[in-house]
Amino acid sequence: MPATILDGSRIAQKIRSEVAAEVKAMTAAGVRPGLTVVLVGHNPASEIYVRGKVKACDEVGIYSETLTPADSATTAELLALIEDLNRREEIDGILVQLPLPAQVDAKKVLLAVDPAKDVDGFHPMNVGFLSTQRPGLVPCTPAGVMEILKRSNISVAGRDAVVVGRSDIVGKPVAMLLTNANATVTICHSKTHDLPGVCRRADILVAAIGRAGMITRDYVRPGTTVIDVGMNTVTDPVEFQKFFAGNARREEAFRKKGSTLIGDVHPEVAEIAGAITPVPGGVGPLTIAMLMFNTVKAAKMRRGSGVAEMTRA
Ligand code: NAP
Repeated sequence: MPATILDGSRIAQKIRSEVAAEVKAMTAAGVRPGLTVVLVGHNPASEIYVRGKVKACDEVGIYSETLTPADSATTAELLALIEDLNRREEIDGILVQLPLPAQVDAKKVLLAVDPAKDVDGFHPMNVGFLSTQRPGLVPCTPAGVMEILKRSNISVAGRDAVVVGRSDIVGKPVAMLLTNANATVTICHSKTHDLPGVCRRADILVAAIGRAGMITRDYVRPGTTVIDVGMNTVTDPVEFQKFFAGNARREEAFRKKGSTLIGDVHPEVAEIAGAITPVPGGVGPLTIAMLMFNTVKAAKMRRGSGVAEMTRA
């Protein structure tokens, strides 16, 4: 039986409308949440991501501004800029778009962001809050993974979860959130022995690897819930055929655009998984929705008001 498709676009839209209602109420009460995005230099991919974030802010009513220091910006200049944003009362969220130019000490800059305004959830203090189950700001993509599970009524407590990938921005926080939600979690990486065998033990399999279609049906026990965080662009027609031969809709789009987006999970897995997130339209849309959520959460936490614990399943 083909897998249930977990529609991330629909879930993200729902979260965005909930956030918009929250922003409307806060604004009426005199507190309009505000986000500043710091975009250094001219990285075309970063510019596209930032445009998406600013557009999302407009849609949900969050005040936003984008600061654009030059490519030649120094660590000291960026630290001064962050200090200024930390002090500004009307700014609740600070997002430094990565990557930063090579001459900048990115870790130092990220560490300078006030943890209360760290809407990316990357500051070591927020990492510590997450691992000790204290209220804090949770990284957006991992929080989005949990929202997909929760809002699709997929139970987590007591289940075996396998996370492939241990990056600070996806793999590790996803594993921590699943642990906090009482799953039994295994974290895998490039040195893991018998990766297909370990993955086959999963009730919930999360792929955050960055390798197009690596997770084939050999890695998946029938009925498993598969969450595909990967976003890989395929431009080579031979590679395209390997994944999508016979898929008329994809072939047509590939012919027109010359590229297609594929996750870390091979499309054949949809034939045996119990439920699966598509790419595109799965985890991706949740990332911006959770950024909006985090900005509102930061605005509330900074003012000492409660906030729904959406990210704990
Ligand atoms: P990353 O920092 O490159 O980490 C990749 C992880 O995968 C590492 O832990 C690495 O292991 C592991 N890995 C690589 N090759 C492997 C292999 N052959 N077998 C087992 N493990 C392997 O990547 P990331 O930033 O976490 O991103 C992962 C994917 O998610 C990418 O496709 C990225 O584009 C996507 N992503 C999507 C969103 C979204 O909004 N949907 C957001 C962020 C990222 P080692 O630690 O041993 O090197």
